[in-house]
Amino acid sequence: MTVFPLPPGSTIGILGGGQLGRMLALAAGRLGFDVAVLDPQANGPASRVSAFEVVGAYDDPAALAELARLADVVTFEFENVPAAAVEHLTALGVPVAPGARALAVAQDRVEEKTFLNGAGAPTVAFAAADDAEAAREAVTALGAPALMKTRREGYDGKGQKWVEHASEAADAFKAVGGRPVILEAPADFVRELSVIAARGRDGEIAVYPMAENHHEKGVLRRSFAPAEVGKDTAAQAERIAAQILSSLDYVGVIGIELFELKGGRLLVNEIAPRVHNTGHWTMDGCEVDQFEQHIRAVAGWPLGPTHAHSRVEMLNLLGKEADAWAKLAGEPETRVHLYGKRDAKPGRKMGHVNRLRPL
Ligand code: AMP
Repeated sequence: MTVFPLPPGSTIGILGGGQLGRMLALAAGRLGFDVAVLDPQANGPASRVSAFEVVGAYDDPAALAELARLADVVTFEFENVPAAAVEHLTALGVPVAPGARALAVAQDRVEEKTFLNGAGAPTVAFAAADDAEAAREAVTALGAPALMKTRREGYDGKGQKWVEHASEAADAFKAVGGRPVILEAPADFVRELSVIAARGRDGEIAVYPMAENHHEKGVLRRSFAPAEVGKDTAAQAERIAAQILSSLDYVGVIGIELFELKGGRLLVNEIAPRVHNTGHWTMDGCEVDQFEQHIRAVAGWPLGPTHAHSRVEMLNLLGKEADAWAKLAGEPETRVHLYGKRDAKPGRKMGHVNRLRPL
């Protein structure tokens, strides 16, 4: 049985071996832990910096058993881990954090918004639809335009379509794949912000300053942090984060994407039950970054401080942009983070830089 706090020398299992897993593994290593990575592909960004690698599908019982044998606690780097994998690991006696409830809520946009509203975290108005006719009725009820998104497995703006009129709903339903959808009222936002927060095993909560985020073609391009926000806005974000974390009995770091409306009111767009791209600035702007914070929480350690010591502009390096590593490394204010990916496909997240300025 795992006893917390987990001592150094213990092994932390990570489901998913991409860049988030890699940065988690590097942080875990700094605290004296070993890491075991389970990923369907061998030799990925995370496993190349980890002590143990398990190659297999996330729902492969043999791979999960191997991970359970190696790891004292398991976490994940992406939210589309099958719920059955978490149940399987739990049945094998390995604690998984964040838990199954957080995963279930984050995997389904209707569950997510229903949960958020119940937890006192406001969102846009929404309606669920399982077929084309129900989608038309939902748009009529909400009012057009409405944004149609697949309930499950959408990310970076994929599986989404604006419906300008109820009569277009059936075509849009087909275009996003004929799968169950959510229809959302438009958020008339002035900015997109996010907040990264953590909850420890003892219920302690720590919230980082907010980031202001800019997307291009649905993909995060830049974050500026700490975002210039009023005291009221920061207090709203802290309250929202605390309500979400407590309601889920959450352990670990969470990313909460927010819309800021004119007048400063915040709506939650979505939550990610994991470390988040809009929190990469903390690697160089804070004493304890989101990756170490997540490892601390999962391992039952005390949480670290979250205040910023520098102002940071985080820029994602997409595709061939990472080839400029030598020039970037020559800029004194720039910290370079590369993910060790071999194939620089267009638009693929290959790394990021944090450009620092005094607060
Ligand atoms: P998502 O995949 O839910 O994060 O959405 C991707 C992007 O679409 C967001 O970052 C927003 O720019 C935009 N978006 C999502 N939902 C809405 C909405 N209800 N109203 C307006 N814009 C939205």
